[in-house]
Amino acid sequence: MLNESMIIEIKEPSEPVVTCANCQACCCRLEVMLITDTGVPEEYISVDEGGVQTLRRLEGGWCSALDRETMMCTIYENRPLICREFEMGSYECIVERKAHM
Ligand code: SF4
Ligand code: SF4
Repeated sequence: MLNESMIIEIKEPSEPVVTCANCQACCCRLEVMLITDTGVPEEYISVDEGGVQTLRRLEGGWCSALDRETMMCTIYENRPLICREFEMGSYECIVERKAHM
């Protein structure tokens, strides 16, 4: 018979807190369409044959506006609407963190 005092509680290892501060800009490899004009400089914009504008991406899918040393957005004040609305801690954010960290 198992004595209750002998039961050792096993705690789940805690998940790391989801914050951009401990991330590696995982969401900055996604394709981002420019659906409004937020003043993204031309050098960071790609235009396809149909005239659709997206953020220009580099090898590995990285956004061309990301500073790869600091992993910070270099056009933060002018970042596209989609970047502004991408929510830290959202389902999409967790998916990207799991895929790239
Ligand atoms: S929004 Fe999410 S995926 Fe993007 S940098 Fe922040 S924590 Fe990372
Ligand atoms: S514009 Fe800035 S926030 Fe948006 S994907 Fe590029 S680096 Fe990330």
